[in-house]
Amino acid sequence: VLLGKLFFTPGPAQLYPTVEKHLLEALQSDLGSISHRGKQFQQLFAQTTENLRQLLSLPDDFGIYFMGSATEIWEKSLASCVEKNSFHFVNGSFSKKYYDFAKELGLTPFKVETEMGFGFDVEKIEIPEETEVICCTQNETSSGVQMPAHDIHTLKDKHPDKLIFVDAVSSMPHPHFDWSKVDSVLFSVQKAFGMPAGLGVWIANQKTLAKAVELKTKGLLKMPYHNLLSLAENGKKNETPATPNVLYIYLLGKIAEDMLKKGVENIRQETKTKAELLYNFCEKSDLFEPFVQNKAHRSETVVVANTHKPSADIIESLKKENIVLGSGYGNLKEKQVRIANFPSISVGQVEMLIEKLSKQ
Ligand SMILES: *Cc1c(COP(=O)(O)O)cnc(C)c1O
Repeated sequence: VLLGKLFFTPGPAQLYPTVEKHLLEALQSDLGSISHRGKQFQQLFAQTTENLRQLLSLPDDFGIYFMGSATEIWEKSLASCVEKNSFHFVNGSFSKKYYDFAKELGLTPFKVETEMGFGFDVEKIEIPEETEVICCTQNETSSGVQMPAHDIHTLKDKHPDKLIFVDAVSSMPHPHFDWSKVDSVLFSVQKAFGMPAGLGVWIANQKTLAKAVELKTKGLLKMPYHNLLSLAENGKKNETPATPNVLYIYLLGKIAEDMLKKGVENIRQETKTKAELLYNFCEKSDLFEPFVQNKAHRSETVVVANTHKPSADIIESLKKENIVLGSGYGNLKEKQVRIANFPSISVGQVEMLIEKLSKQ
């Protein structure tokens, strides 16, 4: 039985099935009112970061910090760690914005840019020597193109002296990072973690922190509210610089715990299975066609398909059955659908969606 709608939108997205239960428990435990400088909050912060650490197999030299959104972390990561030059892989609206933020901050960013629907041949890309931080968008949500984790790792092999920052907003916890080859990863919770929006998570290692200290020493670290140093200083006490979203920090810890019970490898395997079902369907269909041609660059968590009739008609028709699909992004709105393949959606639900799409 479908209670309410089923969301295949790439964020905000279908809620994880246990959200309601945990949220209710949080309210009943007064988490909406407790002090963020007290023991109860410190324990909660410690528990959530511990659960995430386990889920992601994150080494101890990485800190986990909470902010309002991923967009905020774009800004603070650049402001905290780049003196002059960042380098950006740009292949859609989100990666473009990360680059634009660097310009807005008065930095001198470099970029390599491809058309929508295309990824990168990482081996062939020249990165200027003076680059301090390389910014990658692991999963470009606007176009459904992924940068495979091993391509990101290759960047570190080639440029061990540069920091590697990864926007994995619409894929975490799916990508399997080698933590010796990335320095910072950021995500927000309204995508693959299946939570309501309002929390961003910044994972940063000691090298990232050292860069922020260097900027501070030079008098270049502005941003008094949230910068990496204020986050790290408070994080040591299991606290945050300002009053945080306590409810959602709790909720994220609980969902990470649920995911741990299910097993992160099981979740990743299920994601692969569902992505294959969706891409296979699109390849055989007369109405849909995968947007991303290069199979290695096809996102496993956001499937984008060209539609041979206005996508609004398809979206409207499914809405009548309480199924919500994402439209194309920006000027591709009319010509594409975007289908989120997040852990909140089961294999059975993807099969049901395909059944309905095949009748369009
Ligand atoms: C959604 C998204 C963002 C922005 O996330 P917010 O939480 O809205 O700030 C950034 N990057 C990618 C790849 C996204 O999909």
